Amino acid sequence: MAKPRQPPHILLIPFPAQGHIIPFLDFSHHLSLQNFSLTIVVTPSNLTLLSPLLSLSPSIQTLSLPFPSSPHLPPNVENSKDLPPSSFSLFIHALAGLYSPILSWIKSQTDNPVSAIVSDFFLGWTQPLAKEVGVPRIAFSSSAVFGTAVLHSLFRRLPQRLDSTDDLELISFAEIPGSPVFPFRELSFLYRSYREGDPVSEAVRQNFLWNFDSWGFASNTFKALEGAYLEHPLVDLGFRKIWTVGPLTPIDCGINRGGVMSGSASEVVTWLDRWDEKSVLYISFGSQAVLPRMQAMVLATALEKSGVHFVWAMRDSTILPEGFEERIADKGMIIKGWAPQVAILSHCAVGWFITHCGWNSVLEALTAGVTILTWPMAADQFVNARLLVESTRVAIPVWEGSSEVPQEEELAKVLKETVSLKGTEVQNRAKEMGREAAQAVREGGSSYQELEGLMQELWKLEVKQVN
Ligand code: UDP
Repeated sequence: MAKPRQPPHILLIPFPAQGHIIPFLDFSHHLSLQNFSLTIVVTPSNLTLLSPLLSLSPSIQTLSLPFPSSPHLPPNVENSKDLPPSSFSLFIHALAGLYSPILSWIKSQTDNPVSAIVSDFFLGWTQPLAKEVGVPRIAFSSSAVFGTAVLHSLFRRLPQRLDSTDDLELISFAEIPGSPVFPFRELSFLYRSYREGDPVSEAVRQNFLWNFDSWGFASNTFKALEGAYLEHPLVDLGFRKIWTVGPLTPIDCGINRGGVMSGSASEVVTWLDRWDEKSVLYISFGSQAVLPRMQAMVLATALEKSGVHFVWAMRDSTILPEGFEERIADKGMIIKGWAPQVAILSHCAVGWFITHCGWNSVLEALTAGVTILTWPMAADQFVNARLLVESTRVAIPVWEGSSEVPQEEELAKVLKETVSLKGTEVQNRAKEMGREAAQAVREGGSSYQELEGLMQELWKLEVKQVN
């Protein structure tokens, strides 16, 4: 009888930011259900943070490596949530220090040689690493295909402004379907801070260029949402292949999804049980952004004036008006620290979501049939908001950016009027997109098939001997 085939050994390398690592682990969980041999690279403090999630995929081995030391970063920082956006380039650059330790480890794996690398698209240096050891690499994208295309187009073309002081100057993307244009200030800070010849900038740029040499991108998105960007033109941009595998089903919807909760998940669920269907507004700006003081003040006052029921998940450092929490106690719930976002969005009482349009939040809202109110702040969020408001028309803009402050009365009016709406076109479209999302990941659905196809490609890989 033929000896059972040794499963391919896949090395998983996530980027240590919650918005990247959470879907990456959801993806890894799918691989673990197919009995691949899996090893994930983590640094010690991320291991502590992620242990609850990793414990749900017990077959994944961990390779814990010290965070590479960098003279430019504060000591003990291992996750981008602990850094201001101005340090992201340095953080991305520092992580490339894992190249040599990972290479040595791969070379030591004589009994179970690595057959492929799946790594975050912020870790482009894993592409030459994969090449050096002779295995393919798949770039994992936790962004929309549209956002991924914009970011890669920027670093490939390096479009410049005519007037380097004009933040509103329009940058166009003729090679992306619909030829979108964005004011310079709405583009990722990673690109806006790029300086030709600066070693960190050039390393970040090279990271994105290396992604083009990968087997392709596994993207947490689905065809019904982003079909417009999945056809031929992205090949012109340099993308070889995109597997749309989303929305990836969360391994865990509650307490353990990538953060340490301040209270219990059941507390917010019990609170939500009191309210009518689709009558509550949920507010969150994700795992990184802290709402600037003036914006937080105005949003708080507008919420109070509007009288809407709300759950507001905020970072600990968000500043609120004096006595706000006591005054709104019967209308709203404030969660400081980590919130069980998926559980909140899935609750039938939640109908609306003010979000910064981080891609995971977007997918979680669509999946739950919750209508999005966009308030993009940074990174790929303006691009995501454009996709949601203009291309797919599943969302309503409420505000944008972190510098200007909305007018209190006007915001209160918008919130009051919007949250009472029922059965509008945008709500129906959002619900329909939610059904499409569910359909995509169901057996036989488009993302289900793409994921199966990708896993079959991985299964076909030879188990190579290390030399
Ligand atoms: N998240 C959460 N609780 C929080 C804040 C965030 O569970 O209090 C999760 C959220 O559900 C999402 C991820 O963290 O899965 C945030 O990713 P997203 O892309 O939305 O935004 P980012 O944090 O990257 O800006």
